Amino acid sequence: MSNAFKSFFKKTQGFPKFKKKGQHDSFTLDGAIHIEYRKIKVPVIGRIKTYEILPTGYKPKSVTISKQADKWFISWKIDAEATQTEKKQEFVGVDLGINHLATLSTVEIFNGVKSYKKYESKLGRMQYLNRHKLRGSNNYRKAQIKIARLHQKIANIRKDTLHKITTYISKNHAVIGIEDLNVSGMLANGKLSKAISDMGFYEFRRQLEYKTQLYGSKLVIVGRYYPSSKTCSQCGAKKSSLSLSQRFFQCDHCGFECDRDVNAAINLKQEAVRLTVLACGLDSADTFRMKQEEKAGSC
Ligand SMILES: [Zn+2]
Repeated sequence: MSNAFKSFFKKTQGFPKFKKKGQHDSFTLDGAIHIEYRKIKVPVIGRIKTYEILPTGYKPKSVTISKQADKWFISWKIDAEATQTEKKQEFVGVDLGINHLATLSTVEIFNGVKSYKKYESKLGRMQYLNRHKLRGSNNYRKAQIKIARLHQKIANIRKDTLHKITTYISKNHAVIGIEDLNVSGMLANGKLSKAISDMGFYEFRRQLEYKTQLYGSKLVIVGRYYPSSKTCSQCGAKKSSLSLSQRFFQCDHCGFECDRDVNAAINLKQEAVRLTVLACGLDSADTFRMKQEEKAGSC
């Protein structure tokens, strides 16, 4: 039985909606799944040949077949064992931003591909050229497929970049502190919304959440109101205001100077240390070791 029906009978969700053909076409197979070298057995339809070789060594929990642009894709859900990796650093803070996608307290900086921006004009032109075509006509459909393919390309580039960064972070750090961003609130801000959705903050956090589990690290979400940007990471003094255009942090209290995002990342790391100590009730020796680590992370 599919998930939609299961949740309907459990009364957690309403009656499953039946989708219109051509909109988000996808279906999930669970139970006994028959896979061969290059074939998959689908109920009613029968055996389907695939373009790529299928992984036959695994027993997938479920298989989802979905249509993206004009192509069909198969995705697998398998139970993966957590693999502990050797961690370079115990604690790290990650600041997410618009200028740089991710800034680490180790002063490592990752830029997001602003994939959408790059293809935006191309996409706009395609949509413009399609404006007079008759809806449902062959030419309209052809153009729609082209547009969908470009959308897909943009999404793939974005996902791929995020995967590389989140894998690196979760493999190499034991505890990762990130800010609980109010993404929906930020998206409401017209000026920021496009840049933010292009960066994929949601996806970034989603990937970190499951990858930290996979690589045996821990994700600490620092509260939304923690002033990571306004606080001096060296003396703890808090600025009353710091405009978005100010890229450099300068402490009026101790004179500490630092890149704004790096300062925020160090604060997030320190907050992750504090929250971990609180949660674990570590003894003083452990806390001392962390304090040493904190100092090493300055810029
Ligand atoms: Zn200071």
